[in-house]
Amino acid sequence: MPSYTNDQLLALTSMNGLTAEQISLRSLLIDMRGKEVDLEKRNFENETFKDQRAAKAARDKQFRAMTAQQQAEDARIKNTCVHKTGGMDKKNFFNGSGTLYGYCISKNVLPNGIEYAMCFRCTKEFYHPKDVQRYFPGYGEELISLKKAVTLGAFSLDEYMDMEKEFAFYWTCEARSMDDGSGQSKGGHMFLCHDMVARQNQEHKEFLEYLATLPVREQGRYANEVKGHMKFLRPVKDSKAAVAV
Ligand SMILES: [Zn+2]
Repeated sequence: MPSYTNDQLLALTSMNGLTAEQISLRSLLIDMRGKEVDLEKRNFENETFKDQRAAKAARDKQFRAMTAQQQAEDARIKNTCVHKTGGMDKKNFFNGSGTLYGYCISKNVLPNGIEYAMCFRCTKEFYHPKDVQRYFPGYGEELISLKKAVTLGAFSLDEYMDMEKEFAFYWTCEARSMDDGSGQSKGGHMFLCHDMVARQNQEHKEFLEYLATLPVREQGRYANEVKGHMKFLRPVKDSKAAVAV
């Protein structure tokens, strides 16, 4: 009976003449070789997976860096811009003189009655803080208006007042290049959301109650601003009358 090395046993094309022991050994060798191939394949897949994961992490990192850079540039432009028309040369695009037409601010009324101003150079938007809602950590899952947030102690009154002052400035600024000549803000198709108006008026009531709790000296400090609030307040009408034209 001839003896074979492992390689020879595997290389045989026929099992004729092999002992039971040799057949069993050959079968074991074939199994092992298959497992070796499987292992090699799995190692290759692991390497490929690691490469893909590293490539994805690199892409994600690059995307985050680009997004952060874009946001920083966007913020820089909005802080640089004086929101005025005119200005000499391209380098002064964000530093207009405003001499001829004033501000390059358009004043808009959204279909639900919310007013906002927007600069046509840097796209910065200005809202009255009563119309702005945000999430406040520790104050539930709901969006909260900045007005309500002041009464809850989640947002600073000074910041609120600054925002309102800024909005009032841009809402009333001279912007002749954006004027459509009607003498009115563009609210021709406006309708009022009854629930929103009711909420805002309720929040305003709570806001005034909150201001009344401040020390007298502070109340004096905010007196003018509080008066200013009134002009942004809309009456709650019945649902029929709330559809304005
Ligand atoms: Zn601007």
